[in-house]
Amino acid sequence: MTDSIVLRGGTVLTMDDHHTIHPSGDVLVVGDKVEAVGPSLEVPDGTREIDASGGIVMPGMIDTHRHMWQTAMRAYGADWTLTQYFVWYYLEHGRTFRPEDIHAGNLLSAWESLEAGITTTVDWSHGLQTVDHAEAAVDALQATPGRFVLAYGNIQAGPWEWTADPAVRDFLERRRTGAGDMLGFQLAFDVTGDPAFPEKAAFEVARELGLAVTTHAGVWGATNDDGIRLIHENGFAAPENIYVHSATLSTDSYQRIAASGGSISVSTESEQSAGQGYPPTWQVRQFDIPVSLSQDTSVWWSGDLFSAMRSTLGADRSREHLEAHIKGDTVTALSLRAEHVVDWATRGGARALGRDDLGSLEPGKKADVVLIKNDDSPVSFPLLNPYGHVAFQSQRADVHTVLVDGKVVKADGRLVGFDAAAVRRNVEATVEYLRSEMGDDVWDSGMHPGMPEGSKVLDNPYQYTDFQSESTRSARGSMFGEPGSDAGS
Ligand SMILES: [Zn+2]
Repeated sequence: MTDSIVLRGGTVLTMDDHHTIHPSGDVLVVGDKVEAVGPSLEVPDGTREIDASGGIVMPGMIDTHRHMWQTAMRAYGADWTLTQYFVWYYLEHGRTFRPEDIHAGNLLSAWESLEAGITTTVDWSHGLQTVDHAEAAVDALQATPGRFVLAYGNIQAGPWEWTADPAVRDFLERRRTGAGDMLGFQLAFDVTGDPAFPEKAAFEVARELGLAVTTHAGVWGATNDDGIRLIHENGFAAPENIYVHSATLSTDSYQRIAASGGSISVSTESEQSAGQGYPPTWQVRQFDIPVSLSQDTSVWWSGDLFSAMRSTLGADRSREHLEAHIKGDTVTALSLRAEHVVDWATRGGARALGRDDLGSLEPGKKADVVLIKNDDSPVSFPLLNPYGHVAFQSQRADVHTVLVDGKVVKADGRLVGFDAAAVRRNVEATVEYLRSEMGDDVWDSGMHPGMPEGSKVLDNPYQYTDFQSESTRSARGSMFGEPGSDAGS
């Protein structure tokens, strides 16, 4: 027996420097590495064959910013604004989470990533109020066969405080040792723009430990140009910095990021709903800043990069059209292409993490591979434009096979080794605990924030009488949650 696997006869998106596509290609994996890519490969005796015909073979995707612990609250905040999120997690309930709750969320999120073909996920773990919480977070990541980066954070204390804790430093040094290339570490904290720059001490710890910093930057009402300027002027604008969102920054900030080699992690679904600012790719493109994609948190939206690619194309193009229309112009050729977002979801993430060995299918690279193939689906053919197919047609259920580090973690559409019942039990215990700590009223009102004033239907000059049919009345009632009211009259 050998430990080699070949995916045969798929449309292979190598995502190499030339974005080479093999229309009917094979990918041979030996051990933890890609051995060869091309048509009709010779393979060692005993190689396991996976039929990729009719499918797309691409590098594993990379999510550079996910609050994995929040997955235990999946969809709870679907109707939140950023303010409601801050109040719920930062001020009121974030402290309630115990280490086992962090573990439950992380474990669920880790499997969720693998299921969607995300082979590397950055766990932007800002609920680590004690080192016990951090141990639980890492234990969960290491209990799944994915590749992860724990971005250590703690929203319950200033970054200059928790990074100075010897127990935190001991944790980081201890858990890095022997973790290999399946688990990396970063420091995760935000820079408020306070002229005294108290975050300086945290940057110094990151430098001393050789860890990259990831920071929510350019978030409306929270972080702004002052933070970028302070980072840059104090000499901490390192190329490995990841600036998450970067949605409300000026030209000056984008130029500081571009000049220092940092990258931006765009969470389009998040920015569109929560209000950090307009998803910034339409601006970032002009400054030639490297981009990666991320999904932020499943407490609101989806956790797959198909959604990220789709929403990023939509937001970028939508803005490009709008800017043109304001000037009375028409866009006749789009700037952002499907190929670009597939690149951001793979190579872009690898670059952001400083991982030259990930993000493309080339000999010698780590064997993180995704096969998109769903023969029974009418959406699987015709396969004419593979980048367009990945970005706009494919979904997580079409992810047929996933390899991480040369090992099959999803086969024939099913996760390998996923104990759904056990993961579910732990998540249910967390939900039950949180609900009982809060009480049903607080729990329910957290999930259903009140409607704003002013959602009244405007007076309509084309309505000539006050008459409303039964169906119109009930439709309006249900839309605005006030059945029987006289909204609109
Ligand atoms: Zn975030």
